[in-house]
Amino acid sequence: MTVHVVQFSGGIGSFHVAVRVAEQVPTRDLVLLIADTKIEDPDLWRFARATSRLLGVPLTRVADGRTPWEVFRDKRFLGNDLRTPCSAVLKQIPCRRWMEQHAHPDDAVTYVGIVGTAHDRARIPAIRAGWKPWTVRFPLAEDETPASEEELREELFQGARRLGVEPPRLYTLGYEHNNCGGTCVRAGAAQWRRTLEVFPERFAQAEAEEEALRRELGQVAILTQTRSGVKRPLPLTELRRQEQRCDQRGRADRVNFPQE
Ligand code: SF4
Repeated sequence: MTVHVVQFSGGIGSFHVAVRVAEQVPTRDLVLLIADTKIEDPDLWRFARATSRLLGVPLTRVADGRTPWEVFRDKRFLGNDLRTPCSAVLKQIPCRRWMEQHAHPDDAVTYVGIVGTAHDRARIPAIRAGWKPWTVRFPLAEDETPASEEELREELFQGARRLGVEPPRLYTLGYEHNNCGGTCVRAGAAQWRRTLEVFPERFAQAEAEEEALRRELGQVAILTQTRSGVKRPLPLTELRRQEQRCDQRGRADRVNFPQE
């Protein structure tokens, strides 16, 4: 018996991979493997449970038990867009450990939710290499893709809705990915501005965690900013102040032009 293991991230791509594989193999041989980073948006779990119900396949949840912040403290390294020890410790290692214990490479195939955009396809060789010695398949990667990423995303959303599953709310709140509750350290300043606006309490928590690490490790930050050709750390505190200054300028403008 071959075990078919979907690396189910809670994202819309991995949802469609799970649906596609469930159409092709007996669902008793299908596993929805999901890693819990302990800071996911609660709605990710709503989406995961709905997917599980739709397919009649229980979720197989693995967890290191730590949050990304606890990993950064333990590793004495703050993750950023280039290096993410949190991803290795909280996702890759627990999922790989599960595979080692339950899915012999000779009798298992694993599936990853890569969609057919050039950006996503470029990730395939590294993912394949990372999962050796298992066979990895990317069922969505060869699909014909719409002209733009927005259209593709809308198509994936509508596909989920047609199956009775509402896509994760982080997407509709303007996030590109449904991971770590909108506080992914890899995602860049736009995501953090979004989180400051949409989930100020999560931003405040991340800001406090980053400040604690800065007291311990020195001038580190998740983000960087380039000014006059010089790249420097951009702490979340500074980003928040920049945003608040922008807001105040906006308010001042509105006061100056009340007729608008
Ligand atoms: S989603 Fe981002 S913050 Fe969360 S574990 Fe992965 S890289 Fe780290």
